[in-house]
Amino acid sequence: MSSDCIFCKIVKGEIPSTKVMETEKSYCFLDINPINPGHLLVIPKEHFTTIFDIPDDVLADLISTVKKLSEAVYKAVSAEGINVVQNNYRAAGQLIDHAHFHIIPRFSNDGFLTSWPGKPANASDLNAVKDKITSHL
Ligand SMILES: [Zn+2]
Repeated sequence: MSSDCIFCKIVKGEIPSTKVMETEKSYCFLDINPINPGHLLVIPKEHFTTIFDIPDDVLADLISTVKKLSEAVYKAVSAEGINVVQNNYRAAGQLIDHAHFHIIPRFSNDGFLTSWPGKPANASDLNAVKDKITSHL
């Protein structure tokens, strides 16, 4: 637990939140700055900074909770799609240093993630980066 962490304070009830559900290890509440209505955050009750820090048993509980809530919010707001987003470190857009999953209901033309700036890669480049990745497994 981090004493100055806003998400730890939410879990402890020191900061109010619109809780949707919780499990033994996970806590889910509505984002107060939603991309679209129904935008949820799913966090571990215990403080972990990034996905790298979360023990597998906690991560299993989190992703199971994410799946359940994704389906629920998809139906609840009659969404046309769902994004599950989990950012790690500032370069990836992480603003709160308590690991969390966003569940974002999506609608055609809602203006979010309107482009995916992928760059074509050749087989040699793909194999080179694959070798780098697998050397760390
Ligand atoms: Zn925290």
